[in-house]
Amino acid sequence: MNTVRSMSHHPHSLYPEQLELIHYPHPVLRKRAAEVEVFDDALRDFCARLFECMVEHKGIGLAAPQVSVSKRIFITDHLRREEGKSDRRVWINPRLEFPVGQTSYEEGCLSFPAIYAKVERHNRFDIVAFNEWGAEQRISLDVEAGDFLGIVVQHELDHLDGKVFVDHLTPAQITLIRRRLKELEQAFKKATGKAGAVLRR
Ligand SMILES: [Zn+2]
Repeated sequence: MNTVRSMSHHPHSLYPEQLELIHYPHPVLRKRAAEVEVFDDALRDFCARLFECMVEHKGIGLAAPQVSVSKRIFITDHLRREEGKSDRRVWINPRLEFPVGQTSYEEGCLSFPAIYAKVERHNRFDIVAFNEWGAEQRISLDVEAGDFLGIVVQHELDHLDGKVFVDHLTPAQITLIRRRLKELEQAFKKATGKAGAVLRR
């Protein structure tokens, strides 16, 4: 596993000094994350380090549970797919409202390396979230009208509820990725001596 070292040190922080990306079937990926209650420098420092970790792993979104921090925080930069562009956003205690319609997109996840599959998502919805300074914001997204960010936030929001993208797949889709899931399960067992939270499908 890769790690990102912090420049600063917070010995009594809620957040670890060193962020380590975890993979399926790590059990933290299955926990419901807790609300953020304090918007302080430690939180903002953690968010900055989440961006470092996301960039290092070439992601466009990363949720706190993916670095073993079971808090309702995720970050996105959906424009990173395009050369020289960026749109960094922090989403804290987010909630999804007024979902309408369905759409699908081929998704991947930093916690499921080398697995990609088409996932059904809501097409239009509002998302309400706080930023790292405690300001609340409501954003309306319409995927089919071009808001790719709408796919990213639905994927990341799942992580805060202990859900992962493979939970949305059909049995036929699971069959196609079964071998790769087994490889990740074997790697986890080898590293920890434990089976982890294995998908029962
Ligand atoms: Zn993910």
